Amino acid sequence: MTRQIVILGASITGLGVAHKLLKHTYPLTQDFKVTLVSPSDHIYWNLASVRGIVPGQFKDDDLFQPFLPGFDRYPKESFEFILGTAHKVDLSSNTVLVNDGREIRYDHLVVATGASYKDGMPWKPLKDHQSTLDALHDLQSKVAAAKTIVIGGGGATGSEVAGEIAFEYYQKGKEVTIVTSDKRLLPTLPEHISQIAEKELSRLGVKIVHGTKIARTSRTADGKTKLSLSTSAPDLIVDLYLPTIGETPNTSFLPSSLLNDKGDVIVDEFLRAKSTTSIWAAGDVTGLEPKQAKYAEDQAVHLAKNLHNVLQGREPVEYGTSCLRVIAVTLGRSKGTGVMCGWRLPSISVWLFKGRYLGTDKFRSIANGERMLMSAI
Ligand SMILES: Cc1cc2nc3c(=O)[nH]c(=O)nc-3n(C[C@H](O)[C@H](O)[C@H](O)COP(=O)(O)OP(=O)(O)OC[C@H]3O[C@@H](n4cnc5c(N)ncnc54)[C@H](O)[C@@H]3O)c2cc1C
Repeated sequence: MTRQIVILGASITGLGVAHKLLKHTYPLTQDFKVTLVSPSDHIYWNLASVRGIVPGQFKDDDLFQPFLPGFDRYPKESFEFILGTAHKVDLSSNTVLVNDGREIRYDHLVVATGASYKDGMPWKPLKDHQSTLDALHDLQSKVAAAKTIVIGGGGATGSEVAGEIAFEYYQKGKEVTIVTSDKRLLPTLPEHISQIAEKELSRLGVKIVHGTKIARTSRTADGKTKLSLSTSAPDLIVDLYLPTIGETPNTSFLPSSLLNDKGDVIVDEFLRAKSTTSIWAAGDVTGLEPKQAKYAEDQAVHLAKNLHNVLQGREPVEYGTSCLRVIAVTLGRSKGTGVMCGWRLPSISVWLFKGRYLGTDKFRSIANGERMLMSAI
């Protein structure tokens, strides 16, 4: 009987696993079919969204690409796409209920549904292709029109967004402020990296307010946003507020027994969901490693390898998490910082490998299943 591999989510992780299985495993054992479920038939290159909100920087197809043509190269019977959102997973019947009412049976389920940002911010895909596209266009117009912009959060996304806007409008009369609850930007990175980021963003004219939470937001009668702060500082009234906080895993459709207290899927050393034999998870949906494309890709490659083994009657192998952090953060279009295995990344290397194109140069071949971000498929 044909075994059903159901993959939920079609971004870096889900597409990577699907292509690996169809390219490397299917030629060896044709008794399975991959069914991919996603609310969009386009992959969204969210890594470049921080620059995508600045008008004129990217065309829509630099950030959104259809991924179905990439599956035309495989036998028709090996692949099916379902446009929809997983609504519920039933562990007793091995089925996924999709939002259109369809029930799909699985022999192996791959959860690659990633994470989303709060407040409808398109740093990650929204509920479907059109909503994400519309949100991005809307932000481009708002960024162009705003004179005062506050960015909530001083992590990598907040720092990159501030840098992109400040770089584009340097000395052109836009006031860009980051409000962060931490004592420094990039609080999960070494202190000297934070100092580099703060110095470069300050040089671009970004104001940084530390140790302050945005407690409440409300709209004013003239269409501005009022930000009430956790400190005794007066409210801020701004043209545009861009929150970059509150990333949460997309796991509401899974039984809570598979999740930790943050909602991440708990996986074992084989990337299998806790206490299951046929549910696997990788990428931002797990809490295994930082929510970054590098780790999503490493996990997707390993998960595909384990399914490759299992489908051929062999044992899965352990995934070795990376103990050393690698992260590159852009600071405007010409500078950046970051760390690799404890070493500071020089600004020029961040620009060369990330900042120049933010991965948009590789995006079409990733969407088409010809390569992953850092490795070949
Ligand atoms: C602004 C920003 C910049 C970033 N820059 C970098 C960077 O420079 N380098 C780096 O390494 N990482 C970066 N990251 C992190 C990177 O984007 C993620 O690690 C990566 O996207 C994770 O891929 P994923 O496939 O696991 O999940 P996601 O990209 O979150 O994709 C999940 C997919 O699942 C779909 N989905 C959600 N719910 C369901 C459901 N119920 N049913 C079916 N499908 C569903 C979603 O629509 C989406 O397509 C950045 C993140 C952000 C927010």
